[in-house]
Amino acid sequence: MSTSPPNAPAPKDWVMAIAPYVPGRSTADDGRKLVKLSANENPLGTSPHARAAFDAGNASLDRYPDPGATILREAVADTYGLDPLRVIYGTGSDDVLHLAAGAFAGPGDEVIFVHYGFAVYEIAARRVGATPVIAPDSDYATDVDAILACVTDRTRVVFLANPNNPTGTFTPRAEIARLHAALPGHVLLVIDQAYAEYIAPEDDDAGLALAMTAPNVLITRTFSKIYGLAAERIGWGYGAAPLIEAMHRIRLPFNVTTAGQMAAVAALGDQAFVSATRAHNARWRAWLAEEVASMGNHGLRCVPSKANFLLVLFEGAVTAEAAYKGLMDRGYIVRWLPGQGLPHGLRMTIGTEDETRGLAAALRDIIEHHG
Ligand SMILES: *Cc1c(COP(=O)(O)O)cnc(C)c1O
Repeated sequence: MSTSPPNAPAPKDWVMAIAPYVPGRSTADDGRKLVKLSANENPLGTSPHARAAFDAGNASLDRYPDPGATILREAVADTYGLDPLRVIYGTGSDDVLHLAAGAFAGPGDEVIFVHYGFAVYEIAARRVGATPVIAPDSDYATDVDAILACVTDRTRVVFLANPNNPTGTFTPRAEIARLHAALPGHVLLVIDQAYAEYIAPEDDDAGLALAMTAPNVLITRTFSKIYGLAAERIGWGYGAAPLIEAMHRIRLPFNVTTAGQMAAVAALGDQAFVSATRAHNARWRAWLAEEVASMGNHGLRCVPSKANFLLVLFEGAVTAEAAYKGLMDRGYIVRWLPGQGLPHGLRMTIGTEDETRGLAAALRDIIEHHG
């Protein structure tokens, strides 16, 4: 950690304790463009309706967007049967996660999340001076009892991604209900549902139903993943009115663009695109998981995933690092996460059919030739 020179502005200790977020890459070390399977984007692109709405929205480039994001809130509320006044929105759901930490945690408070959790939670906690508390996982899956064992009277927020990133694991409805029931009322449970639309509707974790009724549950959703609008940065959250009201106080004005709001509304209206993406993902995730299973004799295994990616563990002669570099040499960029405690894992986004077949073939070539 660098110390600031004397007689110069001193950043807060808790800010300097932040390890900067490492985004998914799209180019090789030598600048070559690669097939990008490192950021869980939608391989089928964007709904054509959303793209047309986005183009129309750009006509008013000289005007501020609606600060209340009225059309976005109303479309979200219509789609899910919600109260539009209880919808918060952000520059990506990352923004909503930061609003939750900012409104409910500060210096001296504790924020809990799992070991193999989403990197933004630690940044959001530290940014406001709160203390991150890391709950151990159980074979890469979220362990509700381990989270509960971390709760103290200083706990203010629990962040839980479901499905989780980077593991892809899913915490079933009964476990979410058990966690919520055991948490003290003063603890905000944030259920980050960035991948919720990839779940078969009958397997829903009921987080949204909890957010509709419980005073201490916030769910967050994003347009970056299944809706294919990652470039525009749009997310939303839902919770009890007093939670939302507090978050609005620290929300930056005009945090979702006009074109983004219009694109998001049109994207919500094209559920056929969402279903097609869900079906594509389920098919090729299962296919890739079988391919990896067939490489089990080389020490590869998949963590069971309900998301649009697979976490592949390398427990044999070929290391995750060697496979990461080998895939890069062969034109594919996936996510290697040594900074998140996973030096032995690669997170691979499910791509198009061609990309997924090509990725599997490259992986097989690497393990058969050792790098
Ligand atoms: C991708 C992702 C997000 C959010 O992304 P935004 O683009 O900021 O909406 C949030 N949580 C998890 C777990 C994610 O994987």
